[in-house]
Amino acid sequence: MKETIIRATGKTVPLRYVVVSLREAMDEIGARHGAEGWMLERMSECAIASFFLSSSLKCAGALSLITYWDGEVSRIESDTTPMGLVRARAIHDEVLALGPRVPKATPVRMETRRFDEKGKILAHSVVNMGKASVAQNLAVYLFQSEQVKAAVGIQAVADPENPARLKMAAGWMIEAFPDCDAASLAKAEEVARNLPPLEAFLTPEGFDEHALLSALAGDVDVQIHREIDPKPFCPCSRERMRNNVIALGKKQLLALRDEQHGAQAVCEFCRTEYDFTEADLDEMIRGLGK
Ligand SMILES: [Zn+2]
Repeated sequence: MKETIIRATGKTVPLRYVVVSLREAMDEIGARHGAEGWMLERMSECAIASFFLSSSLKCAGALSLITYWDGEVSRIESDTTPMGLVRARAIHDEVLALGPRVPKATPVRMETRRFDEKGKILAHSVVNMGKASVAQNLAVYLFQSEQVKAAVGIQAVADPENPARLKMAAGWMIEAFPDCDAASLAKAEEVARNLPPLEAFLTPEGFDEHALLSALAGDVDVQIHREIDPKPFCPCSRERMRNNVIALGKKQLLALRDEQHGAQAVCEFCRTEYDFTEADLDEMIRGLGK
């Protein structure tokens, strides 16, 4: 079954639906980070939550969602775009130290940033993560920061046989447009409350997003507007990494050149390694002048 991000609205009822299945994309991202078990599940949930927020971006920008934790894990982050691009990161040393374990960590706060297509910040919000699940925190965030009434469900489950792989990473959101009447809203809330666990939509062929959408719709007639393929993507480049290395400053560059005879920079999002030789460092130092 093909994985997509489905966006739909009620034909006569002002409700908006988003359904996401992200198992393949997050398996790929997780493998690059060496993320397993709990960490892979939380990275996936962050990415799904980020997609819910980026799906309503009016421009071709991006959305960054960061969850902060207290304990063995400090932050887990995911950036997504309305076109279905996704990347995620956590602190690499923490990912490796944790392995497939559940950490001693409590959620602290969730932060979001919206960017326009040039990378300029359009909005920045922070909410406390009072709830245990990303979905519950997201619903609180939508209500507090955006005055949007929404119901959200997100669940990522690592494969118990192989915790480096996901069994499922899926989510749904029903959002009420401001003109939604109380009766339709109450009905949608009831459908959301009575929805079976997301694992019920897992079939031998994969996650059945269309079955989930029709379960969410209940007796509301929905129209699908878009189905987009989620794709892992990172806009990092050698040029950007070179600028990061230069930003270390002349003293540090001299030390790298003379003591290590080179430098390696790793993108924290896609784990791509960029190597710079002694001659590269020399050129950067000369570029900085005296
Ligand atoms: Zn990258």
